[in-house]
Amino acid sequence: MENDGNAAAFAESRFGAAYGSQLSVTLTVGTGVGGGIVVGNRMLTGGRGLAGELGHVCLDPNGPACACGASGCLEAYACGPSILRRAVAAGLPARTAADVVAAARSGDAAANAVIVSAGQALGHGIVRMCAVVDPDIVVVGGGVAVDAGDLLLDPIRHAVADHFPLRAIAPPPRITPALCGPDAGAIGVAALARGAANERSHR
Ligand SMILES: [Zn+2]
Repeated sequence: MENDGNAAAFAESRFGAAYGSQLSVTLTVGTGVGGGIVVGNRMLTGGRGLAGELGHVCLDPNGPACACGASGCLEAYACGPSILRRAVAAGLPARTAADVVAAARSGDAAANAVIVSAGQALGHGIVRMCAVVDPDIVVVGGGVAVDAGDLLLDPIRHAVADHFPLRAIAPPPRITPALCGPDAGAIGVAALARGAANERSHR
């Protein structure tokens, strides 16, 4: 069974925003931060199935506690509950991450700062992934990202442009919104199952 982030990444690679890419990284920003890495037509699952746990890339070992037991993971800065927690700490009367996005969209500077800060964290996480797997495209999806749109994507793009480590050799990868929608996980699971069945039949 694939995790949801991996499945969504596979869907984007086969049918969505990363179609035709050599190596894509997809991040899903929702109640957590998940994602997956697809190399050509193959899901990168890792030695023990842990590859693509992109929300647990460490941004700061002294940072806030993460649900995984480590500290300073990307997820602790950028998932919906983290966005809500920071907004409430800043005094905003928000009850969901969507409330924070709505306030930012209507011009609330404090709400916007929280979204920008989450976007910067995602950008810093992506920069670390660039040095490891060199994606030619980075897809950003998940409920929070779809809701926030460019409010979140623009700070991601700026952070990646400012901190991309290999700029002497190549430009940063394109950062683009997901196209497969809320069913990306189910679409990806079906595509992965079909791929596995084809492989078995060719053995
Ligand atoms: Zn973690």
